[in-house]
Amino acid sequence: MRLLRDVEEWRAFADAQRAAHRRVALVPTMGALHAGHWSLFTTAKERGDVVIATSFVNPRQFDDQADLARYPHTPEVDRAAAETHGVDCLVEPSLVEMWPAYPDPTPTTVSVRALGDVLEGAARPGHFDGVASVVAKLLIVTGPCRVYFGEKDFQQLAVIRQMVHDLSFAVEVVGCAIVRDGDGLALSSRNAQLSDDARRRALVLSRAVARAGEAPTSASELRRVLRTTLASADVEVVYAEVVDPVTFAPSGDGDSGEARALVAAIVDGVRLIDNGPVLLKGDQ
Ligand code: AMP
Repeated sequence: MRLLRDVEEWRAFADAQRAAHRRVALVPTMGALHAGHWSLFTTAKERGDVVIATSFVNPRQFDDQADLARYPHTPEVDRAAAETHGVDCLVEPSLVEMWPAYPDPTPTTVSVRALGDVLEGAARPGHFDGVASVVAKLLIVTGPCRVYFGEKDFQQLAVIRQMVHDLSFAVEVVGCAIVRDGDGLALSSRNAQLSDDARRRALVLSRAVARAGEAPTSASELRRVLRTTLASADVEVVYAEVVDPVTFAPSGDGDSGEARALVAAIVDGVRLIDNGPVLLKGDQ
C-alpha cells in the first residue's frame, strides 16, 4: 500500500492508474477506521477498482470545536487496517494543503442549498458546506473515479449526489449499506466515546429506525413511532423525521411509496445518527 501526504503525488498516482486503464475508486474518511469503512474499501476492491482512501479530519465540517477536539485519531491502526482491507493508496493530506488559509475562513465554498439546509444541516449550521467543499477538493485532486459513501450518513450521500450532478464531476457516486454491530448499533467512530451505559441507551436509535421500517403506514404514524421509541430511553433527541429519500422534503400523509426515516440524538454528549428505509401507505 502506498502512503501519501502530498496532493501532487496523490494526483499523479490517480492519473497513472487511469493511464494504465485501471478504474480509480475514492473512499473519503476521517480516519478512526472501523468495519463500516472497511466495507467501503472491500466493495470498491471487489468491483476491481484501484482503491484510494483519504483520511482527513475536516475541521470545516465541525460546527462545534469541542466535538472536533475530541474526534478520535488512530493513524497507526488505520494504516494497518486500510492495507488489510484492500486499500492501494492511503492519503493523509495535511491541513495546510487542504485548507491553506486555515484557521481563517477559506474564501471558496461549495454549498448545496435546500438539501444541505435541513435536518443535519439545520442542527449543524455550515456542516454540509464543509462536507461539500472538502469532497469537491478530494474529487478534483483524484480526477475521474467512483466515489464510495456509506448510507450511514444518508443526507451526506444525497448532498454529494446533488453536487456531482450539478457541477458535472466525472464521478460515479456509489452508496453502500450501513454496517451495524450485532445489537443493531450503527458503527461510528464516535461510538468509542460512549460509556457502557450510554452505548446501551444509544441502541434506541437503531430500534426506532427498525420499528419504523416494520410495516407500511402513514408519515405521521411513522413520526409517532420514531418519537415514542426514542422517548423510551434517556437520550436528547435532535430530530426524528420521515422524508423523501432524494429531495429530503418532509413526507406527507398523502404520500405513498419509499421514504427514509432519519434520527439524531445526543447521548451523554455524543452526537449519533441513524436512518433506514420506510414504506408509506397514503391516505385510503
Ligand atoms: P467518516 O470517517 O465518519 O467521515 O466516514 C467515512 C465514510 O464511511 C462515509 O461515507 C460514511 O458514511 C461511511 N461510514 C461510516 N460508518 C459507516 C457504517 N456504519 N456503515 C457504512 N458506512 C459507514
